[in-house]
Formats: sequence, C-alpha cells, structure tokens
Amino acid sequence: MSMIRDTLAKVRQRIRDAAQSAGRHADSVGLLAVSKTKPAEQLREAFASGQRDFGENYLQEALGKQVALADLPLVWHFIGPIQSNKTRALAEHFDWVHSVDRLKIAERLSAQRPSHLPPLNICLQVNISEEPSKSGCLPEEVPALAAAMAALPHLRLRGLMAIPAPSTDPTTQRAAFARLRQLQAQLPLPLDTLSMGMSEDLEAAIAEGATWVRVGSALFGARTAPATAADTAP
Ligand SMILES: *Cc1c(COP(=O)(O)O)cnc(C)c1O
Repeated sequence: MSMIRDTLAKVRQRIRDAAQSAGRHADSVGLLAVSKTKPAEQLREAFASGQRDFGENYLQEALGKQVALADLPLVWHFIGPIQSNKTRALAEHFDWVHSVDRLKIAERLSAQRPSHLPPLNICLQVNISEEPSKSGCLPEEVPALAAAMAALPHLRLRGLMAIPAPSTDPTTQRAAFARLRQLQAQLPLPLDTLSMGMSEDLEAAIAEGATWVRVGSALFGARTAPATAADTAP
C-alpha cells in the first residue's frame, strides 16, 4: 500500500502546475520532503519513488534515521530551531541548514564543519511576518547578518528562508513570500535559494520565486507522533 508514491506524484504535479502558471521551469523548484516524526521506512519508500531531499526538525530523531538509511544517497536538510549545543552534530551530519537566524550559530557551524566535507549550505531564516517570539531574524537585520554569514569560510550562504504567519488567503500568502523575495533581491550577494512554501501555500510561494518548497503533511499525512525525549529536553 504505497500511499507515498501517490502523494509524491500529486505534490510534484502541484509544483509543475504552479511553476507553469508562473512562467517558470518546474525543475527550478526543489521538493524538500519534510519527514519529521515519520519513521525511516516511509523515507525509504519516498526514496523508491525518486525523492532524494529530506527535511528534519529534531536532531536526535534525524540522526537515528540517518543511521537507518545510511545505505541510501539522501540529502539531509535541517529546518528546525537550533540550540547552540546542537551545532556540532548539524555541521557533521547535514548537507543544508535552513534555519540559521543568529550569527553565533553560523559561526559555530562554520568552525565545526569538518574539513573533509564541502561547505555547509545555509539559509538565513527571516521572521517575515514579524510575529512575536517566532524564530527568524527581523527583516531589518537581514543585510548585516547575510553579509557576515556569507563571509564565513566553511559555510555557503544560499539564500533566505521563512515560515510566514499561516493564512488561507492566497493574496496574503503571496504578499509575505514577495517580501522575502524582495529582501533577498536587495542583497549584494550571489544567492540562488528561496526556501518558502509548505503543504498549504506552495503555489503562492512558487508564484513568488521559491526554489525549495518544504512539504510535510501533503506527502506523509498529518503528524501525530511526538518528538523523541532527547529532542524535547531543555
Ligand atoms: C513542519 C514544517 C514544514 C512542513 O509543513 P507542512 O504544513 O506539513 O507541509 C515546513 N517547514 C518547516 C520549517 C516545518 O517545521
């Protein structure tokens, strides 16, 4: 009963349709399968249907899946909040980190990236809707933070990431994504990545230039399982 093959086909079709409406090539939009709380076997099934890039939010849970799936050539993306005592494992075990929002975290990731690995791809996460107590730097902090992060030797700043305040109104959705695109366009840096759009709003994100859409529930179904204890410990 391979549901994932079917949901992957549906999401890929949504991406193709949205790209076409926006006059973009479908292959300019990457699909990041957000597999938090889902067991390794479901990622293996997605791999069998052609999925390579997986996004995880909880470090211990992700490391366990990396061990279980070590026989597969997967690309691992971290997209969750980052505590500074987790940076070494992130630097050692991931290909991308989308959720970097402080210079101290970026400095630690750069210092801890093993020299035998290529530079770690990072995105600067922006609190684009300026919601109190949400992850992400403020929009006005982006130019200075991006410049400082781009200068770190073992990182490659690829672009900006955001999780806008949820909205079911396509116009509101697009306005937030457009703001992120415009912020990025103003930076004097060679950036190629806009990580924005999830199950409910990927069409609006693609219309505004998303290069990674991060899709969880539309692929794997609703999430019910809690994170592992090690990930929720303070
Ligand atoms: C969980 C999560 C997603 C996926 O959300 P869905 O609505 O399930 O598609 C995307 N990005 C981040 C940062 C997440 O934490």
